[in-house]
Amino acid sequence: MSEKILKDVVIPGEEIGVIEEFLPGDWTYVDGNSIRSMIFGTAILDINEKRVKVRPLHRMSPLIIEKGDIVIGEVIGMRKDVAAISIRKVENKGLILSNPWSGLLHVSQVSDKFIDFLSDAVKVTDILRARVINLRPPYQLSIKERGMGVILAFCPICQNPMSIKNKKLYCLRCKIREERKISTRYSINLKL
Ligand SMILES: [Zn+2]
Repeated sequence: MSEKILKDVVIPGEEIGVIEEFLPGDWTYVDGNSIRSMIFGTAILDINEKRVKVRPLHRMSPLIIEKGDIVIGEVIGMRKDVAAISIRKVENKGLILSNPWSGLLHVSQVSDKFIDFLSDAVKVTDILRARVINLRPPYQLSIKERGMGVILAFCPICQNPMSIKNKKLYCLRCKIREERKISTRYSINLKL
């Protein structure tokens, strides 16, 4: 097997190839025509198979984040039915991650009710509180529980933290409303 390093360090969400050119391999996901990395790692091309994969920079210890853990993270990328989350904190373990881990939120894990668009529930830059529902990376997250969901969101116009008014997000300055799946823990004074 002959391999070639495409890039020493890639970050979650970074494009490492296009599907017209390569097949997606370990620790990648397909987003439109792009093959992107799920994790921090080294992007590698398997020349024979024409497959791109990412080798994790850190040892993938399953002990850091486990099924059932409550995590805090930022929405860093979205497509129609999946959001990429940069996990910064494992709340129930009091653990702050110096290197964020990747999490994925699928539209089916937002609510027990059917949701057309994930963007009605979360948006890029939102801070989420979520439950980990699988055993190993990439971690699948759920925000179905009442305490889970968006715990801080920023106004798309002025970038200030948004308040809550009549169960919707509201910017006092710009007078605009935004829909989200809001956690009961939402707080404009949130410190990460
Ligand atoms: Zn505003």
